[in-house]
Amino acid sequence: MRPSPNVTSSASPVVRYGMVEHPPLFFRDAQGTYQGFFVDLLRYVAEREGWRLEFTEAPGERLVEMLQAGELDLLSMAPTPRLERLFDFNTVQHHATWYTFFTRPGVQMLTYADLNGRSVAIQRGFYAVSELRYLTEQLGLRCTILETSSMEEAFDLLLRGEADVCAAEQLTALSFARRHNLRRSPVVFAPSRIYFGTTKGRNAAILRALDAHLRELLDSLTSPYYRWQRKWFYDEELTFFPQWALIAFLCSAVFLVLLGAGVVLLGRKERALRKAGERTARHLAYEKVLSDCARLFLTPGEGEEVLSRVCERLCDLSEVSWVAVYRNQRHAEEGYVAQLVAETGLSLATPHVAQIERMLFREVPREWVAALAEGRPWQEDAGALQERRELFPVNTGNDSLLLLPLHEGKHWWGTMVFAGARERLWNAEVTGILETVTNMAGTYLSRRRAEEKLLRLAATDGLTGLSNRRAFFGALEREIARSTRHGSPLSLAILDVDRFKEVNDRYGHDAGDAVLRELARLLLRGVRKEDFLGRIGGEEFGVLFPETADELAFAVAERLRRLVEQHTFSVDCERGRHPLHLTVSIGVAPFLGKGDSACHFYRRADGVLYDAKTSGRNCVHVWRSPDEPGETEKCTETFRAEESKE
Ligand code: GH3
Ligand code: MG
Ligand code: MG
Repeated sequence: MRPSPNVTSSASPVVRYGMVEHPPLFFRDAQGTYQGFFVDLLRYVAEREGWRLEFTEAPGERLVEMLQAGELDLLSMAPTPRLERLFDFNTVQHHATWYTFFTRPGVQMLTYADLNGRSVAIQRGFYAVSELRYLTEQLGLRCTILETSSMEEAFDLLLRGEADVCAAEQLTALSFARRHNLRRSPVVFAPSRIYFGTTKGRNAAILRALDAHLRELLDSLTSPYYRWQRKWFYDEELTFFPQWALIAFLCSAVFLVLLGAGVVLLGRKERALRKAGERTARHLAYEKVLSDCARLFLTPGEGEEVLSRVCERLCDLSEVSWVAVYRNQRHAEEGYVAQLVAETGLSLATPHVAQIERMLFREVPREWVAALAEGRPWQEDAGALQERRELFPVNTGNDSLLLLPLHEGKHWWGTMVFAGARERLWNAEVTGILETVTNMAGTYLSRRRAEEKLLRLAATDGLTGLSNRRAFFGALEREIARSTRHGSPLSLAILDVDRFKEVNDRYGHDAGDAVLRELARLLLRGVRKEDFLGRIGGEEFGVLFPETADELAFAVAERLRRLVEQHTFSVDCERGRHPLHLTVSIGVAPFLGKGDSACHFYRRADGVLYDAKTSGRNCVHVWRSPDEPGETEKCTETFRAEESKE
């Protein structure tokens, strides 16, 4: 027999502990090391007391015998009155347990009544068996109790379906039940406390030490005792943190992650919103520029003026630093020449324009012109512009160019040139805007051309191609205004064909028309470049002589009269072409300056024409102001054809 620790000795005392394998209370793991709740507890005490632990494994009854015989020092067990008579027990109660029932899934076991008519497997030899028998008898339950040699065997019966219920100590059976997916019932029986028992009268020191350590362990909630409990009974990982701290930590971690994710998401959202805002502002600016340009194209004004204003408006776009409009002048073998129509911008100041023009359109690479002529845009990089320094000695800074062909209908009219930072200017959206404006400019030019044509048509006499009556009187008003403003002389002649009715009567109306056309050509040849000739109506024509006093006007009128007189007209008639001679009568009047009016001016000329007619036709009469007060305006000076010829 070994010395017991209660025997004073210098060597570290050996404490022999007897164990029945009962995970998680005590068992051997796969490596053969003793493990379990009681093993941790005993090792803790042994370390502090300087004990050397020795484990002995045997069936329960054998261990009880060995303890009785003094072959063991310590055994953990639930004391019964019989056992208390045989052994000494420690006094600090540290672990309670009870028996309960386990079932397969689907088998209900909620109260004792559920045992009725069922078979119950239970390990033989434990006090719980007698407890179970007593209970079932007391409650009058008819059930079969199947005693097995081990707990595993009892569970085997349950798993094979030979038992309906298995009764076992809840802690030791728990790991087994979990492994086989069995259900633990809430029904409790045979509750008991587990104590350490020693050989009677032999190991008081061991019991004292155990009680002292247990008291201390149980008193502090942070002691390892509770950790062992969690570890062995709840299958939990050991942790240095108390559970509340762990939960708090996890909660704050989750909170922080959510907060971080929220901040990131909000940041992204904010960035996306800001970008969207910038995009919208940019689009609004583009749309504003487009609608402003459209409005400018619709406002009346000279073509160049309108294009200049459009250029200015385009320069408001941050992407564009300079805009110019060039009109094609010549596009021939020796080179392409363009005329600057409108230009605006800051980065390339006006003095540079000539250089740009020279570079772009006189010594320009042919491929540019070819692309533009085909209606394709051309982009010229700032770097390439620098390389063409000998052509273009002015520094363009970092600006690149975008050249867009400007078409008037199908005709390549000219080019719009834009300068700006490459990445901003060559952006598809910006290019799209500029293309739209260039197209608008093309439509504007077409519209202007159509309008001009209409105006021309509206001002032209259909028969002779001369200015018609309306245009003639418009010119009369304009010249009167000019004469009034500058005090310059102005004269007017009205010319009427003599006896034209006869021509119509003789040769027909169509022939008369042809004669009028020929007469118009003749008169056009006879007037000076600066004179304004128009058909006032019928066979009546008017000539305005700007900057011309009546003497000189008279001379020109006289030349016209003579021209007609000497001309042989050719008339188409049924008998073939026929020669015809005509004469005209002309009345000439001067504009009298401030205080005079278009109406009086015209009337004076018409008045003297009438005089010319009545005085025998084929002559020119000039209005003269009455020398004597009281004389009428009808006082005229007659120049007979015969007289003038002299
Ligand atoms: P006069 O002026 O010398 O007094 O004689 P006239 O025969 O020319 O008389 P008047 O000026 O009163 O008549 C003008 C004629 O001119 C009348 C009309 O038949 C003719 N006439 C006017 N307009 C046209 C036209 O567009 N085509 C043609 N074929 N004849 C016209
Ligand atoms: Mg007439
Ligand atoms: Mg006439």
